[in-house]
Amino acid sequence: MIKTDVIIIGGGATGCGIARDLARERFLRSCEEIGIPTEIMSSTKALELVPNLNPDTEEAIKVPDCSIDPFRLCMLNMRTSEIKGGLSFIRHKVTEIVKSHGRCIGVKATDAASGEVKEIHANIIVNASGAWTNLVAGLAGCEVPLTLSKGSLVITNHRLTDMVINRLRPSSDGDIIVPNEAVCLAGTTSLMVEDPDKISIGPDEVDIIIGEAGRMIPHFNQTRIIRAFSGVRPLLKSQKLDSREISRGFQIIDHQNGMYSIVGGKLTTFRLMAEKMVD
Ligand SMILES: Cc1cc2nc3c(=O)[nH]c(=O)nc-3n(C[C@H](O)[C@H](O)[C@H](O)COP(=O)(O)OP(=O)(O)OC[C@H]3O[C@@H](n4cnc5c(N)ncnc54)[C@H](O)[C@@H]3O)c2cc1C
Repeated sequence: MIKTDVIIIGGGATGCGIARDLARERFLRSCEEIGIPTEIMSSTKALELVPNLNPDTEEAIKVPDCSIDPFRLCMLNMRTSEIKGGLSFIRHKVTEIVKSHGRCIGVKATDAASGEVKEIHANIIVNASGAWTNLVAGLAGCEVPLTLSKGSLVITNHRLTDMVINRLRPSSDGDIIVPNEAVCLAGTTSLMVEDPDKISIGPDEVDIIIGEAGRMIPHFNQTRIIRAFSGVRPLLKSQKLDSREISRGFQIIDHQNGMYSIVGGKLTTFRLMAEKMVD
């Protein structure tokens, strides 16, 4: 069965015109429903805002998007925690969950720099290890069903836009360009993987991203790509074949042994996830 919002009977000029208008209307209405302001702009206006934009752009919709530096985000949150008394150990890998009478009471973590193993005890253990959540849960004899989706990005050697540029279409490969400091990131892809430690970027992924980015900003094709990298999205387990269709909702699992796992979500929802977990 196919489920959609509107069925149009007739693929003549009228029906096709309705289909085209509906697709745009659907986006605008979705934004309105959740309170995201939109501004429809002519291509001339869009090119004034983003001079590198493809001059063949028919129309643009401005929304209040933004980009953040995830490294700074993590470091600043950790720093605030430390100022208020939290302890952190960087480059330490948890290799063992310490148990007593069936309850998780601590971890053993190996310092990747020195090889030293530290034993740290606590009343509660929160497993927030992203794509590795199931592996860490496994150390305590628990399971966290996940779907792992690899996404790749390429980085240009300079900044081609001051605004985030997104293709207005159902989410697909290579439909976003994000400025960050002196460079731009373009991506992404979405491929299911089994092992978060065994990922690499295929040349085909890089070609697709560059090709698609070039459709938004033609200058992209002449720009030097300095780096490409992949990450793995820890998504809630789903039977869906296309990982883009999997919910970005999150889940907190109480393993009933002193350990909790938190999985799913997005970077955008990290504060809500943290709040729910701490509560
Ligand atoms: C290509 C790509 C594009 C994305 N784009 C967006 C976007 O535009 N907007 C958005 O909101 N979200 C986006 N996401 C999703 C977002 O990045 C993730 O949802 C988010 O980073 C998950 O954060 P996390 O802290 O749960 O996991 P992670 O960031 O993966 O952190 C888990 C940490 O646990 C550590 N760890 C694992 N095992 C152990 C162990 N045994 N001992 C100690 N530490 C361990 C890992 O090293 C890692 O540092 C994107 C993801 C990808 C891959």
